[in-house]
Formats: sequence, structure tokens, C-alpha cells
Amino acid sequence: MSQTITYQVKNAVYANITNRCPCACSFCLRNNGATVFGSPDLWLEREPTPEELEESLETWDWTCYGELVFCGYGEPTERLDTLLAASAFMKERHPHVRIRVNTNGLGDLINGKRTAPLFAGKVDALSISLNTDDPEEYFRLCAPKFGPSSHAAMLKFARDAKEFVPDVAMTIVGPPVSDDAKIARARALCDSLGVRLRVRPYEG
Ligand code: SF4
Repeated sequence: MSQTITYQVKNAVYANITNRCPCACSFCLRNNGATVFGSPDLWLEREPTPEELEESLETWDWTCYGELVFCGYGEPTERLDTLLAASAFMKERHPHVRIRVNTNGLGDLINGKRTAPLFAGKVDALSISLNTDDPEEYFRLCAPKFGPSSHAAMLKFARDAKEFVPDVAMTIVGPPVSDDAKIARARALCDSLGVRLRVRPYEG
């Protein structure tokens, strides 16, 4: 069986550890056949074991890469233990490598517990998909299985995470998906949470 567990995007190595996700976003790359930044097929026949993930991580020459990003066809916090174990492994073996998790921010709901403290010392950056400041629009766009209160849970996680992770960003997609007014509302929301807003370029 050959499947993509780790892959390269620009100067970073990305880890694809699960295809599970509690959301069904209308814009998800998994639905439209597009690949992540030209990455290979990220559908997994089965999830890699922690050992297989470490083995895959060790195939890269880390003197050439400064960042490991957990991001694939799924939500990385669906495999929180594996994510944290691999982050600890990297901190021990390749301490210069920055660890980032791209997440929908619903890890507390997924794992049924407060997760932010678990990232301390293992994860350097979080990129949380805010998508919109409007909870109703979020529910329409992302259809989280946890229901309409998911948006509030994501914001709570972001506020919590900034106590344990040095760089916490929330993301929305820029024009034409989000207009200036929407971006301004998202920025105000992020300011109130004490995290930064990153406006991602539209890639459609
Ligand atoms: S949270 Fe991410 S992986 Fe999950 S459905 Fe939405 S875009 Fe896709």
C-alpha cells in the first residue's frame, strides 16, 4: 500500500494523519477534487500508526525544512494523541523545526475535553479556520456535526489556546469571498480574543 503521509509544500513538510472531520464545509477541497497546493492525493486507505508517521517524518532531510504543518484531507485534532506524540518526537529530534497545526478549532468538542494546555511546549503555531464572524453563516457553510454552538466553541478554544501556543491565528478567505466589512468584523473579533487575523488569498 502506498499513501501520502507526509508531503512538501514550499519550504515546509506537511503531515496528513487523518481523513476524519466533524465538518462538511461547502468549500472543502475534499469535495471538489482539488489538491492542497498541488499536493499528491491525500485520501488515506487507513490512518498511519504513530510509528509509521515517525518513520515518514524521518525520511525528510530536516536541515532543509523549517516547519512541520499538520494539515491534510481531515482535521488533525481527530488524532490528538498521535499529533502530540509526533510533535514531541520532532521537538526532541529536530528542535529547530516549527510545529504548526491547521485546525477547524473544534478539538475540544471532538475530544470531549479542554485541549489547549496539551499543546504547550509541543506546538508553536495554530491556524484556526474562522471562516466567518457570523455563527449562523458558519453553521450553514461548515455544517459541524456538533450543531450551531460550534462557532462559540471554536472561539473559546482560540482564546484558551493563546495562553499555551506562541502564535495563534484565525483565518478567513479574502475577496471576493469576504468583503472589507466582513474582514473588519473578523479582525475586531480576533482582537477581542487576543489572537491575530490572517486573511488568506482566494484560490478559486
Ligand atoms: S474543516 Fe477543513 S477538512 Fe473539514 S470539511 Fe471543512 S475544509 Fe474540509
